[in-house]
Amino acid sequence: MPSFVNPSECTGCKTCMYICPNDLMLLDPDEGKAFNQEPDACWECFSCVKACPSGAVAVRTYADFAPLGGSCVPATSAGIINWTVSFRNGESKHFRFPVRTTPEDSITPLKGLRESDDLENSLLCTERSLPVPASIPDETSATPGRSRDRQE
Ligand code: SF4
Ligand code: SF4
Repeated sequence: MPSFVNPSECTGCKTCMYICPNDLMLLDPDEGKAFNQEPDACWECFSCVKACPSGAVAVRTYADFAPLGGSCVPATSAGIINWTVSFRNGESKHFRFPVRTTPEDSITPLKGLRESDDLENSLLCTERSLPVPASIPDETSATPGRSRDRQE
């Protein structure tokens, strides 16, 4: 379900315009409010939803977690993300999850692996040598019956 902007919350900061990978968010020049110019093309990547500093962008929910017509919007902070799911009848529920399970900057991406500056090298960083394909058995010697079939 595509994202949509709540105009009463939008400050016109353009963050959503800059972050949308599909270039869908536009600012209405008269109103100074953002809007999703092509909802059918929305990837539902949630980038604009999470990046909006005003919490003005929401996404219509799928029926597997809220009835039709509901919407959800996240509020992120350093350690947690709070999802607010708003239902059509006016009720809302809040879900809080940790943003990450490890301390920030604690992950060493190449830990135990070597980094190569040789762009021509076909090896993955986890490989020491290129894998050799298994040899293909000689069909005529391995299956004599089949080669006889061919001659017939
Ligand atoms: S990021 Fe949010 S506040 Fe800023 S223009 Fe987009 S919808 Fe409006
Ligand atoms: S959800 Fe993603 S694709 Fe859709 S408008 Fe927002 S940033 Fe663009």
